Amino acid sequence: MPVFFAEQALLPDGVVADVRIEVDAQGTIAAVTPAASAAGAERIRGPVLPGMANLHCHAFQRAMAGLAELRGPRGDDFWSWRTAMYTVAARMTPELLDAVAAGLYLEFLKRGYTAVGEFHYLHRQADGADYDDPALLSRIVVAAARRVGIAITLLPALYAHGGFGAAPLLPGQRRFANSAAGLLDIVDTIRRAYRGDPCVAAGVAPHSLRAVAPAELGDLVTGLRALAPDAPIHIHCAEQTKEVDDCLAWSGRRPVDWLLDNTPVDSRWCAVHATHMTESETGRLATTGAVAGLCPTTEGNLGDGFFNYHAFSQAGGSIGIGSDSNVSTSPFDEVRMLEYVQRLVHRRRVIATSEAQPSTGVALWTKAARDGARALTQPAGALRPGRRADLVVLDPRHVALVGRRGAAVVDSAIFAAADNPVCDVMVGGAWVVRDRRHDRDEEVGAAFSAALTTLADAL
Ligand SMILES: [Zn+2]
Repeated sequence: MPVFFAEQALLPDGVVADVRIEVDAQGTIAAVTPAASAAGAERIRGPVLPGMANLHCHAFQRAMAGLAELRGPRGDDFWSWRTAMYTVAARMTPELLDAVAAGLYLEFLKRGYTAVGEFHYLHRQADGADYDDPALLSRIVVAAARRVGIAITLLPALYAHGGFGAAPLLPGQRRFANSAAGLLDIVDTIRRAYRGDPCVAAGVAPHSLRAVAPAELGDLVTGLRALAPDAPIHIHCAEQTKEVDDCLAWSGRRPVDWLLDNTPVDSRWCAVHATHMTESETGRLATTGAVAGLCPTTEGNLGDGFFNYHAFSQAGGSIGIGSDSNVSTSPFDEVRMLEYVQRLVHRRRVIATSEAQPSTGVALWTKAARDGARALTQPAGALRPGRRADLVVLDPRHVALVGRRGAAVVDSAIFAAADNPVCDVMVGGAWVVRDRRHDRDEEVGAAFSAALTTLADAL
């Protein structure tokens, strides 16, 4: 049985010294022993964190990161960004999607994400015609993930309408079209194709309340529970104030209230963003056990608003992080931004801590890794027996980490290292990044560069 030794490792209760980690043949952690000897073990070169789950990603949007920062003739809010995004979506071919997704996922690994939740809504050709294989683009993103070695939870999205009240799709949304039955077929296809791969999971993503009518949402949830009782369900919810206003006009209820009143939301759900909640909605969502999928850099980029972190945490709410539009590919950026936004709102420091865990960095990383893995139904997210051996090794040579011990290692990696502090990454007991290099760097990098060059002139 492979045995690893780390001078410092972030275990569920904090950073511990001299830790032996035993990994079985399936890539699962068999034992974690603090204050142990290094005898006979492979020495890990730096402090070890549990791999981070990226619970919300739209891979193709990486191709437009940084290309929507100009003030356009129609203004520069979320909705004009969305128009630019549709332009890129329309240009995606299966080959380009493969190249962009593989390049993005490889970058995720190098920066400390070991699992990704792909909220996937490209299903058809740009003109709305079917592909011969309705699961083609879903297969492509899953295969891209497994080619580079990141774990993936595919969340094919149901995007059936262009607005509340079952409005028809807009022309730019035609390739998103699908049905509850069509999505469940994709879930079934992926689950069968990857039955032997413990790093692949699948659930569904009703895109949002504006894009899915109540009956469709009901059919999707009921159908998924029949097919895969424990599978995750993710939904964009209350990201924008316009969405809240439109939901109120349509139903008389705010989005989170409507969702909780009309749908059996529980710990298998992830409410992505959940930015605009009243105090009552905040408490209600927290007590369901659903994970709030926070995407701080994208929410900042799009000017969404402020998540009520303090009240949600006080009510026992679970949170994870996602890269969403992929303006950032680093989990360190996401947790830092999450904390800084809260500091700016409340005009005080060290928000995401508790009496049990006084370190901001440790509190944020352990919580987001644990709850994020749960949101993706990935058996990872903590360094403890029974979890997959997904390890992120911090670079002891990084200038921000010199001389750091204990919780200060995690705090410094998050708050003081602007560039990437990760040097090695393991997924399922196998090293996929060694000394900042990946075996497929050249091949994946070349295809990614060619794809980005092709796509960049679309905007
Ligand atoms: Zn999203």
